[in-house]
Amino acid sequence: MKSILETNEIVACTSDIEQRVYTSRLLGRDKTLVLHGGGNTSVKAFQKNPFGEDEDILFVKGSGWDLEKIAEEGFSPVRLDHLKRLAQLKTLSDPMMVNELVTHMTRASAPVPSVEAILHAILPYKFVDHTHADAVVTVTNAVNGEARIREIYGDSVVVIPYVMPGFDLARLCAEEFVQQADPQTIGMVLLNHGIFSFGETARESYERMIDLVERAEVYLKRNRAWDIEWNVARIPEENVGHDLALLRKNISAVAGFPMLMARHADAQSLSFAGRKDVATIAQQGPATPDHVIRTKRLPMLGRDVHAYAEAYRAYFAAHEPQAKERKTMLDPAPRLVLDPQLGMCAVGRSAKDAAIVAEIYAHTMEIVVRATALGGYCALPARDIFDVEYWDLEQAKLKKGSKPAAFAGEVALVTGAASGIGKACVDALLARGAAVVGIDLNPSITSLYERPDFLGLVSDVASEEQLKAVLERTANAFGGLDMLVLNAGIFPGGCRIDALGTGEWRKVMQVNLDANFVLMREAYPYLKLAPRGGRVVIIGSKNVPAPGPGAAAYSASKAALNQLARVAALEWGGDNIRINSLHPNAVFDTGIWTEEVLASRAKHYGLTVDAYKKNNLLKTEVTSRDVAELAAEMCGVLFAKTTGAQLPVDGGNDRVI
Ligand code: ZN
Repeated sequence: MKSILETNEIVACTSDIEQRVYTSRLLGRDKTLVLHGGGNTSVKAFQKNPFGEDEDILFVKGSGWDLEKIAEEGFSPVRLDHLKRLAQLKTLSDPMMVNELVTHMTRASAPVPSVEAILHAILPYKFVDHTHADAVVTVTNAVNGEARIREIYGDSVVVIPYVMPGFDLARLCAEEFVQQADPQTIGMVLLNHGIFSFGETARESYERMIDLVERAEVYLKRNRAWDIEWNVARIPEENVGHDLALLRKNISAVAGFPMLMARHADAQSLSFAGRKDVATIAQQGPATPDHVIRTKRLPMLGRDVHAYAEAYRAYFAAHEPQAKERKTMLDPAPRLVLDPQLGMCAVGRSAKDAAIVAEIYAHTMEIVVRATALGGYCALPARDIFDVEYWDLEQAKLKKGSKPAAFAGEVALVTGAASGIGKACVDALLARGAAVVGIDLNPSITSLYERPDFLGLVSDVASEEQLKAVLERTANAFGGLDMLVLNAGIFPGGCRIDALGTGEWRKVMQVNLDANFVLMREAYPYLKLAPRGGRVVIIGSKNVPAPGPGAAAYSASKAALNQLARVAALEWGGDNIRINSLHPNAVFDTGIWTEEVLASRAKHYGLTVDAYKKNNLLKTEVTSRDVAELAAEMCGVLFAKTTGAQLPVDGGNDRVI
């Protein structure tokens, strides 16, 4: 562990709060120190009130901010005297404590201060840094953790036994600090939780944190508990897509809502999940209290979701006898699965949640393996884990949580997704909370969006092998498939039948019909396992009900596709899979319709471009977005009782009506 502080950068920070922002970000950049809002920092400074008086203020990290990206407005200004008085109370419930924090801020728009604010207030130093450093947590969570910590640090740190974060912890630290601290003290270790450092300058506090963590790393190296070899005993089978979809369906059923599941088959995950002692080392509990909330109490070993849920219900009943009056059981679904074949599967209501779970557990695996090498990993007793999981504040947060998006926890696949109607479908599905896989021949698909809930894959729909691989990758990334939007298609230039070559005919059939048939067939086993039932939307064409001369191959291919969809609706209704088609016409905001093409077509009909675009009964322009919004709605509750339907989206066409 090395300091990454640059002297010229800290010198450039002119105020206390600027320095506070700078070194907080340095801590946030190192994921072995701070993960997903896991640490917090503060500075004590004077601030003028409206009467011109100086007030002593604690600027402490606000909730919802990550240290890595924190800015000045991410620090909540709380009156220091009030915090110090609170610390002297015998008891204070955590919701009341948060109320006191929020009502004693000097900026109404500031975020809710960290629940560790009082703890920062009682430490008599200007700057205070707090992390859940992996190396320190590894030592405290090993057998004889406390003795090891004292051996490493001597009287440099105050040692605090485990108490759940909140008022009681702050109060205990206040008492222990007075008793244990001496002039050598530069930090405070909280067993099974993390470490504090402090100093008179931002630099001093930061460098002490680095120094303290470095000492723990050196201790682990000296005890041969640092370097880890991740040996994969058996290379897993490649095609596990259907296994993943089944597992995700079962997890979603136990949760009571659809969940996404991301598989991680890297060497570390496979090696850890395949260890002979995995049942012992992975079943102790999370490394720090803030991990409990994200990853749940324990990972699931293997794939028996019902047994896991049973054990969870029993754990709830055992630890909360008055459960019915005071607490509601959280859903009993696992957030993490360890399986020797699959590696690690991270589960979440959104792709972002699943990614956070995976990142946290990647650190947990290192902590567990190192602590095991040190003599044995021991997490908190189950009682303490329960208290964190069913913490008043966490429960309140869950209750306040807004309604999940329409497609939260669901997965959609869109073909021809790089532009036009396909891209608009990606947008409409993402906006409704789905994770989306977009495929296209155009390589730009891979960089369409950089976000955890989108995966862009270059794929030729004419290749059976590539389509199978796409489904496999979809299942690996998100756990299965709920919605399929068949959009990719080609529209060759006008050509009358007497001049239409067989090759041209076949090419159109291959892309517009055969590819969709193959994708439907291959997607069927996945759609059958969709937690809320599978949905297929076919982007058809006005040419199905109203063909035009010169478009024989196109019209025939779309009509055949339409018939295929109707047969699928008949065959798959029993599997709770709905298939509906929409027939757009004259959608001009796509790549093929350049300004020149539009102008020339308008001229051909003796119309202005605007009149040509609105050449329908409603005199309205139909956009890609109009089509995509309808396609997304067809996957939603409005169409829950509809299958085999065909809907025009064309502004009204007298030949269709
Ligand atoms: Zn903490």
